[in-house]
Amino acid sequence: MREQRGTREALAALEECAGHMAVLFLADLEVGTHPVEFLKEYRKLIERAGQYLPALWESCYRNRTGTLLDQYTLRVIETYRESGIEWESREGNEPQDYFGIECLHLTFLLFLLEETREQALEGNILHFLEQHLEWFAEQLREELGKRYPYFAGEIQRLLEKIWEGKKALKEPAKRGTSWCISRQQLPEALCRFYSKHPELRELGVSAIPAKETVRVKKRGGGCWNNCGSSCLREVTAVDGCILKAESARTEEPQEERLTTCIRGMHGAHTFLTADRLRYPLLRVGKRGSGEFRRISWEEAIAWIQKENRRIKETYGPWSRYVAYSTGVVSEVRPDAVIRRFLSLDGGYLDFYNDYSAACISYITELMYGTRKTGNSIEDVVNANLILVWGHNPLETGFGPMMRKMLVKAKKKGIRIVVIDPRCSDTAAYAGEWVPIRPGTDGAMAAAMAYVILSEKRQNTEFLHRCCMGFDRETMPEAYREQETFEDYILGVRDGTPKTPDWAEQITGVPAAKTIELARAYAEAKPAAILQGCGPQRQENGEQTARMIAALSCLCGYIGISGGRCGAEDAVVQYPHAAFPRGENPYPGRIPCYLWTKAVCEGIRMRPVEDGLLGVDQLQSNIKMIWCLAGDTLLNQHGDINATKQILEDESMCECIICSDLFMTPGAMYADLVLPGASCFETENLTRAWQEGDFLLYNQKYVEPLFESRYEYDWIRDLAVHEGLEEAFSEGHETAEAWCRTLYEELRNREVSSGEKPFAEMLSYEELRQQGIARYPKRDPVIAFREQIEDPKQHPFPTYSGKIELFSPYIYHLYEEKTIAPIPKYHPWGKASEVSEAGTDRFPLVGWHTKVRTHSCHDNNRVLQSKEPQAVWMHPEDAKRLGVGEGGRIRLENRYGKTEAAVKLTERITSGVLAMSQGAWYCPDEEGVDRKGSINVLTTLQPTPLAKGNPQHTIWAEVKKAENPEPRNPE
Ligand code: SF4
Repeated sequence: MREQRGTREALAALEECAGHMAVLFLADLEVGTHPVEFLKEYRKLIERAGQYLPALWESCYRNRTGTLLDQYTLRVIETYRESGIEWESREGNEPQDYFGIECLHLTFLLFLLEETREQALEGNILHFLEQHLEWFAEQLREELGKRYPYFAGEIQRLLEKIWEGKKALKEPAKRGTSWCISRQQLPEALCRFYSKHPELRELGVSAIPAKETVRVKKRGGGCWNNCGSSCLREVTAVDGCILKAESARTEEPQEERLTTCIRGMHGAHTFLTADRLRYPLLRVGKRGSGEFRRISWEEAIAWIQKENRRIKETYGPWSRYVAYSTGVVSEVRPDAVIRRFLSLDGGYLDFYNDYSAACISYITELMYGTRKTGNSIEDVVNANLILVWGHNPLETGFGPMMRKMLVKAKKKGIRIVVIDPRCSDTAAYAGEWVPIRPGTDGAMAAAMAYVILSEKRQNTEFLHRCCMGFDRETMPEAYREQETFEDYILGVRDGTPKTPDWAEQITGVPAAKTIELARAYAEAKPAAILQGCGPQRQENGEQTARMIAALSCLCGYIGISGGRCGAEDAVVQYPHAAFPRGENPYPGRIPCYLWTKAVCEGIRMRPVEDGLLGVDQLQSNIKMIWCLAGDTLLNQHGDINATKQILEDESMCECIICSDLFMTPGAMYADLVLPGASCFETENLTRAWQEGDFLLYNQKYVEPLFESRYEYDWIRDLAVHEGLEEAFSEGHETAEAWCRTLYEELRNREVSSGEKPFAEMLSYEELRQQGIARYPKRDPVIAFREQIEDPKQHPFPTYSGKIELFSPYIYHLYEEKTIAPIPKYHPWGKASEVSEAGTDRFPLVGWHTKVRTHSCHDNNRVLQSKEPQAVWMHPEDAKRLGVGEGGRIRLENRYGKTEAAVKLTERITSGVLAMSQGAWYCPDEEGVDRKGSINVLTTLQPTPLAKGNPQHTIWAEVKKAENPEPRNPE
C-alpha cells in the first residue's frame, strides 16, 4: 500500500464520510438533534412516512422495477461475503443492499485496510466501489435531486470522497485479488472498529461471519388477492432473495392446473418493493398531511390499547368499526383476526354486503330464496349458447375453473356472446361482442324478453309451475291487481312495449341484434347466462340484475344441465377452514357502503332507509376504524373528495388504525400506520372463492421485511395486554399454528352419507410440503334440480315457495315508491341519454383490469407497463374532441377531477369512455387527481334496495389536461 500522506488522508476521509452516511441512513434520529427541514426529509425518506418515495436499495436501480430482495441484492451479499462477512439487522429484515448498509460495509473495509495494510483488501474495496456503491450513489443522488437537497448534497460529498479514494487505491491494487477476514478475527476486529467509530455501534446492523448459501424451492399458494381464483406458484429463493416465481408445474392435466396470471407471476414486483412501510408510524401532522414519526412496536401497542379503551369507555364498544378489506383473502385474514379480538373485548359495529356484488346477491336471494343458485361451472359446456353479460373472467379471474371452462366451451364450438360496453379480453376471445351503453343492460334484457314473449317462445309450463308474478295466473290473490312481469314487458299498463326498437334508443344495440340474440337464446335449449358484477354495480343495479335473471325464468333454463339461473350463481361444494371470528355481542350491522354515513350521522340511520340490521338505531356514530389490509377507507370507496373531508375531521372519527404493506391513499388518513407482512413472508391457507376443489398452503419464502409483522402477531400482543390472550389465541402463538388446527378440524369434519370423508385429504405436513391439497371429489351441482322436478315436495326457499318475479317483500317495503316489485328497466340518472353530438359529456365505465386486483398491484411497475392507466376512447370521439393517442385529458364532474392519458381504440363503443378502477389516488396541490383514480368521480349515494355501491355509474365532462404526466409526486 502506498504510504504517501495524501493517500492515507484520502482514505481516512472516505472512511469518515462513509461512516457519517451510515449514521444518516441507519440511525433513529431524534427531534431536536437536527434542523427541522432536515428532519422533514429524514421522516419521508428514511422512515418512509409518505407516498411515492425514492428507493434506498441498490436492487431497485438495477432492476428498475423497485423490487427488493432479488438477484441484484444477492450479488451485493456475495460481494460482502468475499470479505468474509455479511450484515444482519438486529430487528427486522433490512435488505443488505440498503444504502446505509453499503456505506457501513465500506467503512468497515477501510478500517480493516488501515489496520491490516493488506494490499489485497484494496482489491475488495475497489471492486465494491466500482461494482456497487459508487454507481448506486450516483443513481441515488439523481433520484433525490431537488426534493431531498440535504441528502442529495451529502451523497455528492460521499461521491467526491469516493473519487479521491479511488485514485489513492487504483495504482497499487492488484485486480482479482481479495482478502477475507476469518471467523476468529471478526469479533476482535469489530470491537476495535466500534471503538474507533462508537457512533456506529447502535445502528441496529452488525457484521456476522459469511453464511453458507441456502437455496430453497417451494411450491405454494400464489397471491392472497381477491381475484377469486387462487393459483399454485413455485418460488426459488437463494439466501432470502427471490430469484424466480412461476406457475407450479404439476403432474395434473393442463385443464386442472392452477396456473398463475400475470399478477401472480410478477407478485414480487408488487409485494417486495421499495415502497413498503418499514416501521410503525404515528401521525404528527393533520390527518392526510402525510406527517408521521417512527415509533417502536411497543409504543404502538401501548397507543392502541390506550385509544381503544378511551373510545370504548367514552362511546361504547359499538362505536368501533372494522373496515371492509380484501387485501388478504386467506383463511387467517387480518379483518377476521381483529373481529375476534373485538368480540372478546365487548363487541363492535359490523357490516354486511360487499363492494363487489351487493345488488346481485340481494336480488338472487329475493328471487330464489338463496344465493346458492349456481350450476357448477364445469356444466357450462353443456349449454348450447353462453351469454357472458358484463363479466370478464379472462382478465379478472373469478374462480380457477371459469376461464378454463370458457376455453373448453369455445373449443367445443359453443357460441359465446359477450355483452359489455368494452370489448374486454373475454369478449375478444369469445369472438362476439355486443357493445352496450353502461347502465342500460336492463333495457336490453327487457327487449329480449319482449321478443321471446311476443313470438311465444317462452316456457309457459315452467313459468306457471315455478314462478310467481309472471302473468295474472301466477300472481297471488292478494296482489291480483298489481302489474305483472308480462304486463310490463308488453307495455299493458305504461303503454310502452319494451320492443327492440325502444331498447335501441337506450342501449345503442341495434334492434336486429337484440332480436337475433333473443331468438338464439330461446332456441338454444338450454342456454346459460353468466352474469358478472359489472351491470349491477350501478345505481339501478338491483333491477338490472333481476331483469337479466328473468330471462332464465322465461325460458325455463333453471334446474337443468346446461342452463343457469342467470343471477349470482354461487356454488358452495367444499367447506372453508375458516378462522373463527368469535361471537360479536353487538347485533347492529350496517351496509358496508354506508360507513361514511355511520361516521357522520350513524345515530340517525334507520332500518328501511339505510339498511340498518339487528338494531332499530345505532347508539353512537363510528368513532374508531380498524382498516387492515385494504383501502376502502379512501381509494376504493365512493366520492374520494367527500370521504377525505369526513376523515380529515378528527372530531368525527377520532381514531383510525391502518395496517398495510404500503402508505396507501387511505393509510395517509390514519392516526397509526402499521407495517404488515406480505404473502411472501407469512404462512396461511388459501382457497378459491368457490368452484375450487383444493386448499393451498401459502409458504413463507423470506422473513418479514423491515419491522413488518403479520396482523395476527400484533393483535395477539394486544390481547395479552388486555388480559384476553387465552381466549383469543386458544394456545395458538402464530397464524401458522391456527392453520394447522383449522386444517385438522376440516379433515375431521363429518360428511353426509355417500360422500367421501375429508380425512382422505393430505396430512397437514404433506400439504405444507406439496402446497396443495385436493378435497375428495364431489359430483357437479345443478342448482334447483329437485325444485324443478318436484316443486310440491321441494319448494324454492322463498316465502311463496316459487321463484319470485313479483316480490311481495319489495311491494310492502317500498310500495313502489323507490323500486318496483317486478323487474323493470330503470334508467340511471341521466345515463339513458345519448351523448349528444357536440357535447363533451360521457358515461364512463369502470372495469377491473388484468394488471390489478382492485387497488392491489397499482405500485407494480412491470404490470403497469403492460397496461398503463388510460381512458379508453373511440377514435370518432377523439377526433371530435381533438385529442390523440396518449394525449392527457381531464375527466370531471360534481364530485371531483382526475387526469389520465387517452388510449384510442375501437374496443369501446362510441359515446362511452372506460377507465379501469383501482389506480391509487394522487392529488396535486389543487386537489386534481393525476393518476386516473376513478373514485374521485363516484358517489356516496347507495343503491336503493341493497344499499350497494353504484361505482360504475359515472357521467364525466372531458377536457384536455394542461399538466404533463406526473412523475412520482408526493
Ligand atoms: S391474481 Fe388470482 S389468478 Fe392471478 S395469480 Fe393471483 S390468485 Fe392467481
